[in-house]
Order: sequence, then structure tokens, then C-alpha cells
Amino acid sequence: MNDWIDHTVEEAAATAAERGLCAHCLGRTAAKAGSGMSNEERGLELADRLGLELASPCSLCGDVFRHVQRFANAVAEAVLSVESGNFLVGCRVDPDIVERERDLWKETGDSLAEPIKSELNREIGKAALPLIDRAVEFKSPEVVAVVDTRFASVELDVAPVFIAGRYLKLSREIPQTVWPCRACRGKGCDRCGRTGKMYPSSVQEEIGGPALAAVDGKEHFFHGMGREDVDALMLGDGRPFVIELRQPRRRDVDLDALEMEINRSELAQVRELRIAERSEVAEIKAATPSKTYRAKVLVEGKVNKERVNEVAKSFTKLHIDQRTPSRVSHRRADMVRRREIASMEVEDVEEDAFVLLLETESGTYVKEFVSGDGGRTTPSLSEALGLPCTVETLDVIAINDR
Ligand SMILES: [Zn+2]
Ligand SMILES: [Zn+2]
Repeated sequence: MNDWIDHTVEEAAATAAERGLCAHCLGRTAAKAGSGMSNEERGLELADRLGLELASPCSLCGDVFRHVQRFANAVAEAVLSVESGNFLVGCRVDPDIVERERDLWKETGDSLAEPIKSELNREIGKAALPLIDRAVEFKSPEVVAVVDTRFASVELDVAPVFIAGRYLKLSREIPQTVWPCRACRGKGCDRCGRTGKMYPSSVQEEIGGPALAAVDGKEHFFHGMGREDVDALMLGDGRPFVIELRQPRRRDVDLDALEMEINRSELAQVRELRIAERSEVAEIKAATPSKTYRAKVLVEGKVNKERVNEVAKSFTKLHIDQRTPSRVSHRRADMVRRREIASMEVEDVEEDAFVLLLETESGTYVKEFVSGDGGRTTPSLSEALGLPCTVETLDVIAINDR
């Protein structure tokens, strides 16, 4: 039973005890010797067997372990204030205590020792567990309660809730994400009517408002699989997105009810909502599916139906070179990108307009492909038809990710 106390343990304990330690701190100098007991039990046994004195207050920890139950109560209160399937306890220890511990190890050696922080985490966790009745999760806890042992205060770190789905954008007057006012950068000024935004709403806000309310969270972040222009609609089955909801107090979301709530909006709609993993944010950002568009094209001049069809056919599986469009050159590097027009069909030819249905490689600037962008995109539809063309309206009708 007592054979764990060998010569090394005995020497370390005797040296440590001279400083006047509590049973926890004495036991911790030999934490890796002898299993199936707590550091306190270990310390008591060492004191008993080796005739060492225990001290109060402890010169190392100041008897911090007497407050473990109080810390645990504070942890429980904080954790129970939010919904979670699991939790983890962490703590911040007074740096002076950590310093004194390191100083002690210089004399006793640290090969058998355990840092005070890990004993506190474990003891507070043990005391909190019966009060909380949720599983302890080390790898990816939904809630981490960090106790500052100097003040017995608790900070809660709540993992965000991620909701994935597909959205439709039904307005040509809202951007995909919140767009801060250029003049005031979000602070609020006369130009933006004190809203701090360039547009009154966005797909992000139409979805994020109800979603944030559903989880009682603090902030939303929007991650889309690419984005469309403000004046373009997103139709069909929608565009994949993940919305990240920070500091949620609830995690158990009724997704059907949320979908119905969001879909009362006339600006944006969602479908196929589901709870997602954090890793899907990176996946969605890295995806480069082709897109299918419907574009209403205006032509300066008379359109010949056969000619338009012929030109459309000639673009099938054709590569075009696009120099960064002038309209985005202020935020993108000026370079030439080669993109493929996968297919192109003509619908509804009128006298000076027609409707184009086209599938293009991810990253193609469709408006510039149609207009030629002053020679920056070549070949272009205008060039091939020999007539200047512009896009009047543009709708994304499919994101071909599945
Ligand atoms: Zn102590
Ligand atoms: Zn402003």
C-alpha cells in the first residue's frame, strides 16, 4: 500500500514540507507516484508516514483549495445559464502562486509533480459535475467556464452555433452581407442616415436576425459559397451558406420554425436548414462550383435571331480572358483570369434584347463577358455579335455544387 513512497518521493516531500504546505500542495510534489488517490490524500499520507508538518495558511497556495466548492458553485451557475450538451472547466491561477510553485520545483524537482492549475481544474470540475448534470468534454466543449481563482469570478466561453442552408435573394436592392457605410465605416453619419450601413438590409440580416433570436446569441457572421452582385437575384435552389451565431444561450433550435420565421421576409428566403460543424465554413469558402445565370441582354442595334443563336453556340466550352473589371479594380488585384463558358442558350429574342441562359466557371464576370468591359474581357458577346450589348438584369438560377 505504501510502497509508492520511495526514496525520491521521500526527499522531495521532506524538502517541500519545510516551506509549510497544505496537504494538496504537499501531495502534488509527488502526484505521479501512487495512483488511485487525490493529491490531498497523497499529502496526508506523506505527512503521516514521514512525520511531516502540514501548514495553514499554505505558503504556496494560500489555502485556495478551501474555496473549491465556492468555485464549483460559481461555475455551475454560469454553465446552467446557457444551454449545452457538455462543458469543461478551466481556471486562471494567481501568477504569484504559479511562480512560487516553479520556485519550489527548483528544489524538489518536477518529474513527479503536477501543476496546481491542473489539480484545480480537476477538483473544481469534480465538485461542479453533480450540480451541472452535463457531460465533461475535453476535445470540443460547447461551453468552457473559466474561473479566476483570485476573485472566484467565472468567464463563459460558449462555442458558436453554426446553421447551414441555402438562401434565395429576392431583391435587387440588398447585398449578401452587411455592408458598412463607406463614409463613416459603420459609426453612423448623415450620409447613411445614422445606420452605419450602405443598404438598409442584407441577406445576412434577413437570416441572422431571426437566427440570432432563436439561439439568444450576440452576433452573427455570414459565410456564403461565393456571392452575387447587389442588383442580381439568387433563385432556383439557392446558394449554400453557413451562418455563425456567437455566444448562444440556446443551442436546441427548432429549424422548421426558424425557416418559417425567416421566410416571412420578402427580401430573402432559406431552405434546407440544418445544424453544421465549424469545419463547413472553410469548405463552403473553398468551393468553386459552376453557376447558371439568366441574363436579360440589351443590344444597341437590331438583333438577328439566327445570328444570336449561332454566336451563343460558338461559346460552348470556350475560354475567355477577363482582366479585373474596372468596377471592382479598387478591391481586387489587376490581373487576367481565364474562365470557361460551359454552355450558352438564347431564350426570348426581342427586337433589341434577348434572354441568355448560361453556365460559367466559378469566378466568371458575366456582365463583363456580355459587354466586353471596354476590351478587358475577350472574347465577349458584344465582340462576337459585332454589336454593343449590356446586361439589364442578372439572376443566378443555379449554384451547381451537387
Ligand atoms: Zn497549498
Ligand atoms: Zn455613414
